[in-house]
Amino acid sequence: MTEITENTRRIIEKEDRLLSYTTRVPYYPLVVDRAKGSHVWDVEGNEFIDLLASAAVINVGHNHEKVLEAVHEQVDRFIHYTPAYMYHVPHTKLAEKLVEITPGDFEKRVAFALSGSASVDGAIKAARSYTGRNHIVSFYHSYHGTTIGSLSVSGYGSDMRKGMGSLVPDVHFIPFPDSYRGKRTEECLESFRELITMIVPAESIAAVIYEPIQGDAGILIPEQAFYIEVEKICRENGILLIADEVHTGFGRTGAMFASELFHIDPDIIVLGKAIAAGMPLSAIVGRKEIMEAWHTPVHFFNTAGNPVSCAAATASIEVIEEEHLLENAVTVGNYMMERFKDMMTRHECIGDVRGSGLMIGVDIVKNRESKERDVQTTAKICYRCWEKGVILAFFSGCVLRVEPPLTMTMEEAKDALDIVEASITDVENGLVPDSAVDQVRGL
Ligand code: PMP
Repeated sequence: MTEITENTRRIIEKEDRLLSYTTRVPYYPLVVDRAKGSHVWDVEGNEFIDLLASAAVINVGHNHEKVLEAVHEQVDRFIHYTPAYMYHVPHTKLAEKLVEITPGDFEKRVAFALSGSASVDGAIKAARSYTGRNHIVSFYHSYHGTTIGSLSVSGYGSDMRKGMGSLVPDVHFIPFPDSYRGKRTEECLESFRELITMIVPAESIAAVIYEPIQGDAGILIPEQAFYIEVEKICRENGILLIADEVHTGFGRTGAMFASELFHIDPDIIVLGKAIAAGMPLSAIVGRKEIMEAWHTPVHFFNTAGNPVSCAAATASIEVIEEEHLLENAVTVGNYMMERFKDMMTRHECIGDVRGSGLMIGVDIVKNRESKERDVQTTAKICYRCWEKGVILAFFSGCVLRVEPPLTMTMEEAKDALDIVEASITDVENGLVPDSAVDQVRGL
C-alpha cells in the first residue's frame, strides 16, 4: 500500500499555499519524483502504473530514450530562438512531418503555439479571416480550453463561464451524440439544421469546431452517420471543419488522428498535449489558402516553436511509427475494454464501457436503469487505486479515464486492471471511507 510521510505533506501544503487553487484538480497526495515508460515514482519511492499518462500527454511513455536523446542533443546546441525572428531546423523538420502525417491530401501550412487553448484561438482566427464570416458552431459538453477564445467555444459547463463577462460573440452550441445517455444522432443533426434555418444563415458561419471523440465529456464517440451529415452540410455551405485533436491526436485512439476513424479531412486540425511527449508545444495545421488568409502576420505571431520541443515532437512521432504504437494501442485497448466489460458482470456500478484504442471511458453509475452518475464511488475507486499503486482519474463526474501511455504492455495492462478491479471491490465492500475522498475534486 502507498505510504506517505511528512515530506509529501509539507510539499503539498506549500503548493496549496503558493499556487492558485484554479490551476489544480486534486485527486490524491502524489508528488511525482521520476517516471519511465508506464511507471511513475513519487518522492517517497512508491511506484505506480500510470493509467493517466499525464492526461493523454505521454503517449510514447515517460522519458522515452529517443525523445531524451533528441532533447539532450538540442539543449546542447541552443535552447531557444523564437522562430518568428530566426529560422531553425527542428522547427522546419517538425512542420514537414506534421504536414505529412495529418489527414488531407492537400497543400498545408503549420503554425505553432504553446498550449492547446492558444491553438484553438488560432484556428478560430484563421477560419474567420479566411471566410470573412464571424459565426462559429460548437457542441454541448465540448472542452476546447481556458483562454477567452477557447472558453467561448467550449460547451463544458456554465461554471467555467461564471464571472467571465462577455465572451467571444457569435458562437452557437448544438448537442453532441451520446448513445449511452440517449442523445441520438438524428436529434443532434436536426439541431444543426434548425440552427442554420432559424437562427444563423449558413453563409454567416465560418466553422464548426469539434472534438472527433469528445474527451472531457466522458469519451463520447459519435457514429459515422453523424459526421457524414455534418460534413455534407458544411461542404454545401462553405463552412470550415476545425477538428480539435488536442486530446485524440498522436495515436491515442489507435489511429494517428481520430479524424481518420471517421474518414474526414478537416480544413484545420488543432494539435497539442501529446505532440511533443510532454514538452510544451501546440500547433494548427490547415489548408494552405486558409492559413495564408491572415490579415497581418501578428494574427498568430508568438513565442512558440521552441527547438527543444520541436525536436522532442519529431522524435516522438518517429517513436509512434517505428514502434507500431497505433497497433499496440488497438491491441492493448481492446484487451482493456474486454476486461472492463467482463467486470460489468461482477460490478453493478459499471454502467458502460466505451472507447477507441487507449482512449477508454468506464462510466460509474448509481443504478444501471437510471444511469445516474455516481461521483462519490468514482472518486473512491480512484483514491483506492492510488493506495494500491495505480494512477487513475476521471472526467464528467463519473467516467474513469483509462488512457495509459501507448507503449503499455499487456502485462502492465493486466497488472493495472487487477488493481482497478480490486479497488472497485474494496469500494463496494465499504473499505474506503467517505473522508478519504473529501480532497478528491476530479473533473
Ligand atoms: N482541446 C482539447 C480537446 C483538450 O482536451 C484540451 C486540454 N484538455 C485543450 C483543448 C486545451 O489544451 P491546453 O490545456 O494545452 O490549453
